[in-house]
Amino acid sequence: MEHIIEHQLLERFIYAGRANFTIEDKEFDTKLVVYVKENKTIPGLYWVRSNEQFLGTIFQSRFIIKDNEQNRLNRKAHAFMRFFILMLTNRLPETIVVYHHGTCGRCRRKLTDPESITTGIGPECVKKL
Ligand SMILES: [Zn+2]
Repeated sequence: MEHIIEHQLLERFIYAGRANFTIEDKEFDTKLVVYVKENKTIPGLYWVRSNEQFLGTIFQSRFIIKDNEQNRLNRKAHAFMRFFILMLTNRLPETIVVYHHGTCGRCRRKLTDPESITTGIGPECVKKL
């Protein structure tokens, strides 16, 4: 199941540690499935994947595209870069809609209560963020 996350709740969700979501761009009719995983040993470091493909890292609020020929031409990595910058600067247009996949952004357990389904974070995990 996919559930919309409001734009103002996105940053907390994406930085929760194990965030699985889809970015839909209604203007360009594209969908990007993303998994943002926290590196537990280096604070502020996250890995960004789309399905099994590694797109790059987030470090100290900057997204760095994986540096190789393949990724320089990678539309997915650039689409994520655009989304990430718009999110951090509070400029996401209404045409960009983000959905979580029904699992907690921090622990990936299935979300059941209505409040958690709205925010994408479970009741225990929300206390730890
Ligand atoms: Zn959780």
